[in-house]
Amino acid sequence: MTASSKQSRRDAVCGGHADIVVVGGGPVGALAAIRFAREGRKVRLVEARAKAAPLNDARALALSWYSREALAAAGAWPDDLPCTPIDTVHVSQQGAMGRTRLNREDLKLPHLGVVVDYPALTQAINAQLETAGVEVLWQTRVTAVISLSGYATVNVSGPEGEAALTSRLVVLAEGGALADSLPGVRRRIHDYHQCAVLAEVRTEKAPDGVAYERFSRQGPFALLPHGDDYMLVWTRSHEDADRLREADDDSVISELQEAFGQRQGRILSVGPRATFPLALRQVNRVSSGRVVLIGNAAQTMHPVAAQGLNLGLRDAIGLADALQGLDDPGDASGLAVYAAGRRLDSHAVVGFTHGLIQLFDGHSPVVSALRGMGMSVLDSVPPLRRAFARHLVFGV
Ligand SMILES: Cc1cc2nc3c(=O)[nH]c(=O)nc-3n(C[C@H](O)[C@H](O)[C@H](O)COP(=O)(O)OP(=O)(O)OC[C@H]3O[C@@H](n4cnc5c(N)ncnc54)[C@H](O)[C@@H]3O)c2cc1C
Repeated sequence: MTASSKQSRRDAVCGGHADIVVVGGGPVGALAAIRFAREGRKVRLVEARAKAAPLNDARALALSWYSREALAAAGAWPDDLPCTPIDTVHVSQQGAMGRTRLNREDLKLPHLGVVVDYPALTQAINAQLETAGVEVLWQTRVTAVISLSGYATVNVSGPEGEAALTSRLVVLAEGGALADSLPGVRRRIHDYHQCAVLAEVRTEKAPDGVAYERFSRQGPFALLPHGDDYMLVWTRSHEDADRLREADDDSVISELQEAFGQRQGRILSVGPRATFPLALRQVNRVSSGRVVLIGNAAQTMHPVAAQGLNLGLRDAIGLADALQGLDDPGDASGLAVYAAGRRLDSHAVVGFTHGLIQLFDGHSPVVSALRGMGMSVLDSVPPLRRAFARHLVFGV
């Protein structure tokens, strides 16, 4: 490439300075970009995926009613988006007494939440980007981020080569790998040495709005209503996950039936198993100069409490609210408001999720009895149960 063709490629890609560059077009980055563009900012979003590439991802996500409403308010929840309501969450443990049920009546909401497939959700939000006026660079990867005093730069690599984009603010919503290069930002990483095993499960009784969270001897699992079936999310060791992936369906069914019991009748079938390695990653600070982190880039957590995306969407909304009306979106004062506003929610949800894993790790009869007592108290004291459900649905 000659110097002049490099320059014209650079101009074609950059098209001048933007107010905000968002890195990552997952649900969190896309929601933030839509909010910024709707407020009149010039926004570019850089996404490594090709626009038309199919998203092969088995995740079905439990979204709280708050998250669903926030996406609808941003025009990113089409009426025909396939989803399954959750009206009750039933929490129990294997081999000991005690259980808790959270109901939509506790919070007087139409539903506690909904279950939606990650690919369908991401595509629905992505479909609103251009309508909202966001300029999207598809199939383009950000390779470096640099914050300077008056602006920030991201280096990108796409089908036509490399370029640099400048903006007053860079929002990292790419999952977190780029955070390691930011001055002052460190990521705490805890490897659970576990996988989430996902599979579609059909039970004798239809889900009817009931989601299950069960702490079994082999590891906690969720059964999320997914159309007429359930989506299983089972935390297992890497060895167990490999075995379950390769095992014949009947032996997976009998293992799950033993861990779950007969609440939904017999388990009739189980689909192919997909696995996701699990780790906790959390940054010590969510901004560095003119770069700010949201969603999984700020915190990636264990899926046991189904909180990761819910928290990430609240990051996107919190950032858009904090910067609203500011002339310079990268100004330190706006980013400080965002950081202060998100600190409690992020630390509480990450702490709760991590604590849950530790709490249900032991299987001694005494520990099981204490856990059971805790669940029974939560179940039988409505104000406590309502407060707990409110935090799960609306955040802290
Ligand atoms: C098994 C499992 C089950 C889960 N279940 C739930 C649940 O029930 N409820 C819930 O709330 N959460 C759940 N989560 C968590 C949830 O999936 C994440 O919190 C959510 O996907 C984070 O969204 P995000 O937009 O921040 O990041 P992502 O969804 O990871 O999107 C990041 C985007 O950035 C792009 N990208 C990456 N690097 C670059 C780069 N260098 N340049 C440009 N683009 C880049 C990627 O292509 C991607 O599109 C679950 C997670 C797992 C693993």
